[in-house]
Amino acid sequence: MASVRLTLPILQNWDCHNCGGCCRQHQIEITEAERQKILSQNWTAEDGIPGGKTMVRMGGWLSSAGYRLAHQADGACVFLNENGLCRIHAKFGESGKPLACRVYPYAFHPAGKSVAVSLRFSCPSVVKNAGRPVHQQQSEIRTIADMVVPTGAPSMPAPPLNVLDRVDWPDFHRFVDALDATLAQPNIPLGDRLLQAIVWTSLVGQSSFTKLRGERIRDFLELVQEAARVEAPTLQTAGTEPTAVGRLYFRLLVAQYARKDTAADLREGWIGRWRLLRAVWKFSRGEGEIPPLQDLFRSVKFAEVEQSFGGLTPEQEEIFCRYFRVKVQGLHFCGPAYYDVPFVEGFHSLALILPVTLWIARWLAAGDQRTRLTTDDVARALAIVDHHHGYSPALGQRAARSRVRSLSESGDLIRLVLRFTR
Ligand code: SF4
Repeated sequence: MASVRLTLPILQNWDCHNCGGCCRQHQIEITEAERQKILSQNWTAEDGIPGGKTMVRMGGWLSSAGYRLAHQADGACVFLNENGLCRIHAKFGESGKPLACRVYPYAFHPAGKSVAVSLRFSCPSVVKNAGRPVHQQQSEIRTIADMVVPTGAPSMPAPPLNVLDRVDWPDFHRFVDALDATLAQPNIPLGDRLLQAIVWTSLVGQSSFTKLRGERIRDFLELVQEAARVEAPTLQTAGTEPTAVGRLYFRLLVAQYARKDTAADLREGWIGRWRLLRAVWKFSRGEGEIPPLQDLFRSVKFAEVEQSFGGLTPEQEEIFCRYFRVKVQGLHFCGPAYYDVPFVEGFHSLALILPVTLWIARWLAAGDQRTRLTTDDVARALAIVDHHHGYSPALGQRAARSRVRSLSESGDLIRLVLRFTR
């Protein structure tokens, strides 16, 4: 499509550091044109491609669901060489690769007259904020946007605000800007900012906007933000222990975020599914040893993760604050970017990333017999979690969404944020 106006994240740096992580985690589906392009590149066993087999047909015997790139035995893309570099890139340059590889870790979301750009924190360089400021890479990002943003993007409606109401893009941006402003407040611990945001978005979830537009929405937002500023400190004195149902739903959510689903894992078929079912059963009980959902997790008991690991350090707060603001500014938490859920539900799902990530970070730390988190624990855990957020089909299913709504409506979301940030 013709060049679009891009809204770029203001806090984020990124450059590819050739870690090859994305080429090990993702299944790359290719279009027919990309299939033809790769076939014309004439890959053979001499190039290091076993049997010269570069792609696999998806779907069953009777129907084809297109093609994806083939994988090596360990699940890595067939084009990833022994030095962790892409063979297509080395031989044919950036433009020889499938579009999905060129887009990652960027994500583009229609935002009315502009397109909001977000990044996937499953990339370790994004989590580490390593590279040039993203807003200085406008021309490269525009080239990618022009290839992926559909022509009808400017006419796409704004995501709904709650289960009842939808407003137009200018009003929707007022809500997004208010959320970003709450998360950006200086000299307030991140946990408190998150609590304020949860409190006022919950009020948005209970309100009707059929008669509110423009300036009146701005007034409404000022009122609920002020109410949240007053109410959030009173929540600090409340109990931090989630209900039994809340603890169960939370552990099931953690299990969904902690699993690995590369092509190698999916190839395990029934054995893999049986293992997963057993793991879900153990997570629902929450006793004894945590089932190791990935090789990187060591043997740890649920009770070890449940103990306090202390509050967040400034470096850990910086990672989470940047994460939340990039996702909010990039509209990477609701609407088409997140299973078509409304603004309020999408933000509450996003807020849960904090306790889920810290639970997984504790698991990593406890595996090393530590009772304090390092920044590296948090960074690794966030990369694991964000790999799934908005991309794992399981998280978009009715059961998972209803668990998130239940955590939010019961107050357990607030208790979890308090519990994991103290
Ligand atoms: S084609 Fe290249 S960039 Fe894409 S997943 Fe494979 S190795 Fe990585």
